[in-house]
Amino acid sequence: MSNDKIIDGKAFAEALRERIGTETAALKDAHGLVPGLAVVLVGEDPASQVYVRNKGKAAAAAGITASDHRLDASTTQDELLALVDKLNNDPTVHGILVQLPVPDQIDPNAVIDAIAPAKDVDGFHVINTGRLATGQMDGPDAAMVPCTPLGCKMMLEDRLGDLSGLNAVVLGRSNIVGKPMAALLTQASCTVTIAHSRTKNLAEVCRGADILVAAVGRPQMVQGDWIKPGAAVIDVGINRIDAPTTEDPDKTRLVGDVDFDSAVEVAGAITPVPGGVGPMTIACLLANTVTAACRQNGITPPKF
Ligand code: NDP
Repeated sequence: MSNDKIIDGKAFAEALRERIGTETAALKDAHGLVPGLAVVLVGEDPASQVYVRNKGKAAAAAGITASDHRLDASTTQDELLALVDKLNNDPTVHGILVQLPVPDQIDPNAVIDAIAPAKDVDGFHVINTGRLATGQMDGPDAAMVPCTPLGCKMMLEDRLGDLSGLNAVVLGRSNIVGKPMAALLTQASCTVTIAHSRTKNLAEVCRGADILVAAVGRPQMVQGDWIKPGAAVIDVGINRIDAPTTEDPDKTRLVGDVDFDSAVEVAGAITPVPGGVGPMTIACLLANTVTAACRQNGITPPKF
């Protein structure tokens, strides 16, 4: 196994964050513009608290002003919508992210719908999914693209160059990963198959892929013999599994949706978990915030 097969998402994300820092410094010099990101967290979900903290730190390091809005778990939908409205109307805030999941009394779709599409840096608003689906990717009213698939596409283009004509299989059809990933790969002129829990002969379908993106949430489901020799494999999955040792019977570890050890023997390129797609998701959130800030101020955004 050679190490140059591994797509190092951590290093890629670090380099992207540095470029974002350079761009924010230039925006400040040339236009006096400091991109602002508002992160809203309702309740005390421990995983969400860690994500929000990491997002805030990464934003500050890249020259983006991050504001944290922490609301009690008992917050009503109306109270949350009132905060979103305030942020929509705040000219120093260019990107709004409401950390999901939200508590049961709040309808996540109502919240996503309430975010101004231009400030929707997660790219979940139907206006943005519609713009992505119809290929509206340039100009002041272009799509904001969901961060995880955006990061996957950047890593694929960096490794493979032009993707046109390649067979891509996207495993998973969620609104946040699978569908937007398939839309981006279609725009890149791949021949795209979307596979899901009802797909017949899944292993065989995957074996036809030059690019395989796994986003299913099933630990180590994709085996080495599902992969076409030389294919590029992007593992979006983040799953915690038991990994007991004699010293620590409660030990756990993170794995992807791909069985890395068997896959790396066959693939031409592969993202590890952790250290693959995850770090790129946060970096792309920062890139989206800069893009949003530029568009809202009539400035052509940098190409990330
Ligand atoms: P969802 O649960 O929303 O979607 C999972 C998809 O996988 C569904 O389309 C489902 O099919 C399909 N699926 C489930 N089981 C099977 C199976 N046995 N065979 C074939 N297809 C199957 O998940 P998400 O898209 O939100 O997330 C997927 C994974 O990516 C998770 O591990 C999540 O933690 C991770 N993730 C990682 C991110 C990162 O930054 N690295 C960001 C977001 C998610 P069907 O539609 O038929 O039910």
